[in-house]
Amino acid sequence: MATEVIHLSGAIVVDGETEVSDVWSVDGRLTFVKPAQAADLRIDGVVLPGLVDVHCHIGLGEMGAVPPDEARRQAIADRDTGVLLVRDAGCPRQPYNTRWLDGEAWAPRMIRSGQHLAIAKRYIRHLPRDITPDQLPDAVAQEAHAGDGWVKLVGDWIDRSMPEPDLALLWPDDKLIEAVERAHELNARVTTHVFSAEGAAQALRCGLDCIEHGTGMDTAMMAEARAKGVAVVPTMIQRDHFAEIAASGQGKYPVWERHLMDLFDQRYAQAKELYEAGVRLLVGSDESTNIPHGVYCAETDLMALAGIPSEAIVEAATYGGRDYLGVPGIEEGASADVVVYASDPRVSVAVLRSPQAIVLRGAVLAGAVAGAVV
Ligand SMILES: [Zn+2]
Repeated sequence: MATEVIHLSGAIVVDGETEVSDVWSVDGRLTFVKPAQAADLRIDGVVLPGLVDVHCHIGLGEMGAVPPDEARRQAIADRDTGVLLVRDAGCPRQPYNTRWLDGEAWAPRMIRSGQHLAIAKRYIRHLPRDITPDQLPDAVAQEAHAGDGWVKLVGDWIDRSMPEPDLALLWPDDKLIEAVERAHELNARVTTHVFSAEGAAQALRCGLDCIEHGTGMDTAMMAEARAKGVAVVPTMIQRDHFAEIAASGQGKYPVWERHLMDLFDQRYAQAKELYEAGVRLLVGSDESTNIPHGVYCAETDLMALAGIPSEAIVEAATYGGRDYLGVPGIEEGASADVVVYASDPRVSVAVLRSPQAIVLRGAVLAGAVAGAVV
């Protein structure tokens, strides 16, 4: 049950410029105006907009869509780390979908990207919708209608039909350009899974809005991404899995295995370079089939380990990520979706692991509550 009036006090971080000392949640909505009614609860600390995971797959399992009970478990595991807004980066809609979560007060908010689009045998089985390259523009339009303003493509993956299998592009440029135009006409943005340099280069020249993983991006591509405003989700936890993914080839695909190992070896340095190049970075855990739900703080810790400053990570994880997705953070009248910490995670992201309180739609969900009940 939502406490009617919560007084949040301390350092209320609205964005990079604005900090105030008090905000209230009244019937689940934020206000900077002190209500006439006495607060039922006061929570002191560093208050930030609820965390954002822009690459997460709630509702997905190894065999495709999971039943509602499993989707619920995934959503709760994510929420209990403070993740209150998720961009679902691809999930089948049959035989189950996650639309029912939108009506649940306890569930994190979800922005869906439809089902990943790929070509038969060119991605992980059971996850994508398999189409032909000619079908891409229409399929993108269909996924744009099915989703919440995003479409997710698989841009590169191993091509086992090559004489020496390696990461290779899935789509020809002309179809990709047409598909992105169709999405934009429908006010949807398009993001793409790419590991290789070629994949990122194609995404940049074909007008994609966002790049997932982006491990192969070089200095020139980083400059291009910055100039075009293309965001990159480095998915550090997934980068750590590249050695394991390479090993799964068991020596059958030596070129591909070497390629993934090269990307693995440079995974931290390249992430740091993305940050230093001024590319807009977002936080995405890629919780899916090989990464369990509820590990968001491992992603922020790894971004810090790569050398990205805590302040930049926290911006991407909170008000910056929300701004990118077009969802309000701490604003007058916004849903009271905030996380509270005893100390400032902008000084050390490790603090994100220990929330004092998680407040979703005005309900205190978890954690100790500092400060007096007045
Ligand atoms: Zn993913």
